Amino acid sequence: MGQIKVLDENMINMIAAGEVIERPASVVKELLENSIDAVATRITVSIEDGGRKLISVADNGCGMDAEDLAKAFEPHTTSKIKNSADLHRISTLGFRGEALASIGSVAQVRTVSRAKDTLTANCIEIDCGNKGNVNPCSGDYGTTIEIRDLFYKLPARRKFLKTANTETGHITEVFIRIALANAALDMTLLSNGREIYRLSGKDGLGRRIADLFSAEISQDLIETESQEKGLQILALIGGSHTSRTNNKFQYVFLNGRFIHDKFISHAIKEAYRGIIEPDRFPVVFLFIKLPFEDYDVNVHPTKIEVRFFNSNLIHSQILGVLRQKLLGTNIETPVKLPAKDNDNITGTGQRSQNITDAMAEFFKRHRPAHSQQQISFPYKPAERNSIGRIEKETQYAERHPLNAIQIHDNYIVAQTEDGFIIVDQHALHERIMYENLRRRISAGSLESQKLLIPESFEITDAQAETIKNNSELIEKLGIELAAFGPKTMAIQSFPSILSKVSPLDFVGDLIDLLENRELNLDAQRLLDEILNMAACKAAIKAGQKLNDREIEQLLADGKTVDCAGRCPHGRPTTIKFSMSELEKQFKRT
Ligand code: ADP
Ligand code: MG
Repeated sequence: MGQIKVLDENMINMIAAGEVIERPASVVKELLENSIDAVATRITVSIEDGGRKLISVADNGCGMDAEDLAKAFEPHTTSKIKNSADLHRISTLGFRGEALASIGSVAQVRTVSRAKDTLTANCIEIDCGNKGNVNPCSGDYGTTIEIRDLFYKLPARRKFLKTANTETGHITEVFIRIALANAALDMTLLSNGREIYRLSGKDGLGRRIADLFSAEISQDLIETESQEKGLQILALIGGSHTSRTNNKFQYVFLNGRFIHDKFISHAIKEAYRGIIEPDRFPVVFLFIKLPFEDYDVNVHPTKIEVRFFNSNLIHSQILGVLRQKLLGTNIETPVKLPAKDNDNITGTGQRSQNITDAMAEFFKRHRPAHSQQQISFPYKPAERNSIGRIEKETQYAERHPLNAIQIHDNYIVAQTEDGFIIVDQHALHERIMYENLRRRISAGSLESQKLLIPESFEITDAQAETIKNNSELIEKLGIELAAFGPKTMAIQSFPSILSKVSPLDFVGDLIDLLENRELNLDAQRLLDEILNMAACKAAIKAGQKLNDREIEQLLADGKTVDCAGRCPHGRPTTIKFSMSELEKQFKRT
C-alpha cells in the first residue's frame, strides 16, 4: 500500500508556521508589517509575559470587510500580488500570504477589523486552526489582532521559548527596526501595561533614534546622502566614541525593509578602515532606496536577506559615500571624566593610565597662575635645565608664546579655544606622514633621491620574483632597485620624504609584506598597507624629546590633514578636554 499522503491544511499551516513563526517576536514582525501594508499611520503593540501570554497589534489602517476577514487566515491568501509580474516588483512588506494562516494554526487569535467607509466592524476567532464564523461587532476603523498563548498546543515549540525578558528583548528589537524604517508613524510599545516606547511620527528621525537608543548616540551621528544610478542612500553614521564591540547597532533598510547583507556590512567596515579601531563597529543607520526590479526579496521566508542583482554597485556606492564623508570629517575623541569625585580615574588599560598620570603631572607643574576662566600655559624656560636651550627658547618664546608642552616625551598638551587637547605625538605624526605620502603618490609627485652609496642586500630567488612582479609598485613608491651581483640587489634611490627611515630596513619589510600579502588584497589595499608601514617608520617615536619648534610644527601640520583625529590604524591621535568638563570636575558648575 502506498505510503504517501496529502497533508491536511492545518498541517501545512503548522509547517509553514515553523518557518515563519519562530517566537513571539516573529508574530509581532508579521503583524506590524501587515499594518504598514494597510497604510496605517498609528500602531500600538501590547504584549504580556514576553508575548507568550498576549500579543496585540492595533492599527488605524484600511481594515478588512467581512469577506476579506474570512479569507485572510486561509493559507496562501494575499491581497498584495495578483500575477507573476507582481512578484518582480514587490513594494509591500508581505506578499507570501502565509503569516496569518501560520499564526492562526499555532495560537488563539481574535481579530476585529473595520474597513474604511463601512458602518460596522467584524470579528473572527481562530483556535489553533479551528476557524469560527465572521460576526459583526463594534470597533473603530482599522484592525486589531490579539494572539493568546502562542504554541499552547505545541509543548515542544513552547519549551523553546526563552524567559519573558529575553522574548521581550526580541520583540523590542523588531519594534525598533520597524520604527526606524517608518519614522513618520506614531508607534507605541507596551509590555505588561507599562509603556516602553511612545514615538510620534512628527518628531523626525533624529529624535526617534534618541528615543529608541540614547541622545548620545543620536547627537554623535553625521548625515550624508547620495543618489546615483537609481540607488539612493541616506546614511546616519557614528563616530568612534559611540562605536561598539559588535555590529548590533548597524541598521540597514532597503525600501523600508530591515535587511542583513554581507556586502553592505563589508562596505561599512571598509569605509571605517583607519578611522576607528579595527575591532570596533560604528553605529550606522543606512536607508537605501532601489528600484524593486533590481533585487529579489523572495529568497528567505522572513525576507531578512535579499539578493541584489548588482551587488558590486551597492558595495561601491555605500563604501564611496561613507568614506568620503568620514575622510572629510575630523572624528574627535572627547573625554568623559567620571562624574564623581574620584582620584583614581579608571580607564581601560595602560594607555589611559598613562594619560591620567600625564595629566596629574601636568597640573602639578602648571598651576593656573592668575586667570580665573582660562587656564593659560605660560612658557616657563626656567624649568628647562640646559642653559643654551633656555636662551634660545626664551627668544623663541618672546617672539611667539607656544600654548603647548610635551610631557613624558610622549604626549603634547596644548591649549585650545574651549579647553585643551592631549596629542599622542607618534599617532598624530603617523597620520600626517600617511596623508602626505598618499597625496604625493596619487599626484605622482613623490620625490626620490639617489643614495650616495647604494645599499646592497641579499635576496632569495623567491624574493627576486616578488620584486620583479611588483616592479611597477616599487617604482611608484620612489624606490629604485638594481641587481648587484648574484643574489644581491642594491637600493639606488629612496623617497626623500622618508629621509629618517633606513632604506635597508624599509625595503626588507616591504619585500616581506609583498611576499605575505593576502592573495586577494587589491592594489589599493596593498598600497595602503605599505603607506601605513612607511608612515609608522617615518613618524616621530614615542619617547622622543621634541623642542618647541617641533611641537609647533607637529600641531600645525595636524591641522592640514584629513582625519587628524585618528592614526592610520584608527586609534585616536588626540583627546579633547573641554572647559565645561573641567569646570564640572572642579565643581565650578
Ligand atoms: P501577506 O501579508 O503576505 O499578504 P498575510 O497572511 O500576512 O499575508 O495577510 C493576508 C492578508 O490579510 C493581507 O494580504 C491583507 O489583505 C490582509 N491583512 C492582514 N493584516 C491586515 C491589516 N492589519 N489591515 C488590513 N488588512 C490586513
Ligand atoms: Mg503579511
